[in-house]
Parts: sequence; structure tokens; C-alpha cells
Amino acid sequence: MEIKSVPFFNYPWVYEQHEEEIKSVMQDVLKRGAFILQKELDEFEKSISKFIDIKHVFGVADGTNALNLALIATGIGRGSEVILPSHTYVASAAAIHYVGATPVPVECGVDHMLDANLIKKAITKRTRAIMPVQLNGRTCNMQEIQMIADEANLLIIEDAAQALGSKFKGRFAGTFGAAGTFSFFPAKVLGCFGDGGAVVTNDDAIGEKLGLLRDHGRNEKGNVVAWGTNSRLDNLQAAVLSVKLKYYVNDINRRRELANLYDSNLKDIEQLNLPPPPSNDGDYFDVYQNYELEADNRDELKSYLAEYGIGTLIQFGGKAIHQHKELGFEGISLPVTEQMYDRFLMLPMNTSLTDYDVEYVCERLHNFYKQ
Ligand SMILES: *Cc1c(COP(=O)(O)O)cnc(C)c1O
Repeated sequence: MEIKSVPFFNYPWVYEQHEEEIKSVMQDVLKRGAFILQKELDEFEKSISKFIDIKHVFGVADGTNALNLALIATGIGRGSEVILPSHTYVASAAAIHYVGATPVPVECGVDHMLDANLIKKAITKRTRAIMPVQLNGRTCNMQEIQMIADEANLLIIEDAAQALGSKFKGRFAGTFGAAGTFSFFPAKVLGCFGDGGAVVTNDDAIGEKLGLLRDHGRNEKGNVVAWGTNSRLDNLQAAVLSVKLKYYVNDINRRRELANLYDSNLKDIEQLNLPPPPSNDGDYFDVYQNYELEADNRDELKSYLAEYGIGTLIQFGGKAIHQHKELGFEGISLPVTEQMYDRFLMLPMNTSLTDYDVEYVCERLHNFYKQ
């Protein structure tokens, strides 16, 4: 069999996909010298607001900053605890740490999302919020999480960095809690040419705080009325993102097609646990930021695929939050998550892939387990 190169992620594609259109939009912005807090940012924020049906949207420096600002604006700080899944990026926990609160990691369930059944056990007198992470482009069962939050009087801050456009029961990721956040890192479902993010809310008071926070506490007249910081999405990035947003629904559909193709080609391999396939009538609408499966003999499989030119990735450097001893998570045991981490693997998932690329990857997976 011929060897084909299927990189895990195609970074040049972020630009190439709409090269001409992006060039002209960027030139326009550059020639006008419209760099900071200009109309392209405003327009992009309005488009996101319309797309996911939310009142307030603020483009910020990156997804980590978005989480930081969301926590500050909702008043979570020193002495508080925030519950989050241990299967997430270190940024989710770091944002909690940096407002002086304590991240409390819990297990994930079979779909790799925060296990709602285990949230209650983690609640203490100091718990102020739950941070569900809408991982891999899927939205948690927010009905269950909302019920727990209501009962214990907790806020929900959603880390939807990986899930723009994903839905649960028809409602968009990022719009369930007091605030939600997105990342536009190049490899994210909606990626820009560097770092970028957004923080969103339906709450007017929180929205007002977020607007001040991201621009030095300055109000519309330019007067400083509160402590703030500098966390603004570049106008140039906003212009690029608006171009990409026009094609975004198509991009999501393509990702769902690819997920379907993986699913139908791989579902017979009993050594694999696949993510849920896309469904059109269920509660979940997944956008497949990642195609993360669990595999027997994961490390051997990874090397085998590499020999055939196929790039794979173990998410978050192969460590759950609570496994970072250097960050002070000593003595926490989450066996379900730990066992999954020995088996997690992500296959290539992006809009530059052809059907043939996916079929080639699947064929290699079949061959590996036949040996
Ligand atoms: C990417 C990501 C972030 C952070 O986003 P940045 O834009 O890289 O700061 C936070 N949480 C999750 C789950 C992510 O995947």
C-alpha cells in the first residue's frame, strides 16, 4: 500500500482555505490602520451574538483570558472552589487559580464529558461555581448540570473553547451559564491567525463588567470607571474571523460528515471506543472539534500510524488536570479518567481532509488490529 501523508492538523489551511477573500479583507483593514477596537471587531461580535443567540459578546485576547474575565465578572475569587472536569486543558484550571479560587477536578463519563453524577459529591461549603467544559465540540447534558447548580445555588461558567456552534437540546454551547467562553486558536473549530477568544453572557450587569474589564476599565466615553486589564481581540483577527464565520456552518457539516465516515468505518473494531456519532434527532449536536477515541495498545497504534504518515495526538499532553503534581494536585485519585487517559487518542479532524484521507486512516487502523 502506498504511504500517504495525513498530518494531524493542517496549519497553512487556516489561511489557504479562503486565501483571496482574506487577503482583500486584511488589506482593507491594514490600509485604514484600523487595529484596535474598530468596526470589524464590533461586526464580528454582532455576528457571533446572532449566530449563537446571546446578548453580549466581547472579543478578547484568547480563550484563557476569556475564562479569567468570566470568573472575575461573575465575582468568583479568593476562598471559592470551582468544580470542573479533570479531562480538560490546563487553561480551564489555571483561570480558576489566577482569580484566587481553587479548581476541584472531577471524573469524566463515557462520552469524555464532565460526569454530572459526580458533581454533587464534590460540592463543599466553599463551592461557588461549576465549569462544564464543552469538550471536543460536544455540549454536556446541561439540563442535569443546571439542576445541580440550581439546587446548590452555584453559578455555571462554561468553557466552550472547543464548541462554537455545538448545541444541547437546541441551545448553543456557551449560552447556558452566567458566562461562556470561546477560543479562536488556529486549530480550534473557528481559528484565527494567532491567539483570540470571546466571552459571552446574557446578563446585562455581567456584560457591562466584561466590557470594562477587557479595556482597562474604560467606559464608552473613555473614562476609567473600574479596575480593568488589556484583553482585546485584534481588529485584524476579527476581520479574518468574520470571513471564516460565513462558511462556518458548512465547515461544521463537513466535520460531522468526517465523523460519520470514521464511525461507519471503525465501529466494527472492538479494541476501540468511538465518540458518539453525529445525530440529527437527539439532544446533542456535536461540531467535532476533535475526534477523540479510546484505543487498546494506544502507544503502539500511535507509532504504527506515524509510520504510515498519519498524525495523531494525545490531548492535553496525555495528562488530566489532577495528574499535574507540580500544580499542587497531590493525592487526588480519579481512576475512570486515569484509565481513559491511557487509551485516549485523537485522529486527524479538520476541513482540509478528503474522504479518501479518512478511509486511508481507517484502513490502517483495521490492519493494525488484524496483526
Ligand atoms: C483551547 C482551550 C482553552 C484556551 O484557549 P486559548 O485560546 O488557547 O487560550 C481553554 N479550554 C479548552 C478546553 C481549550 O481547548
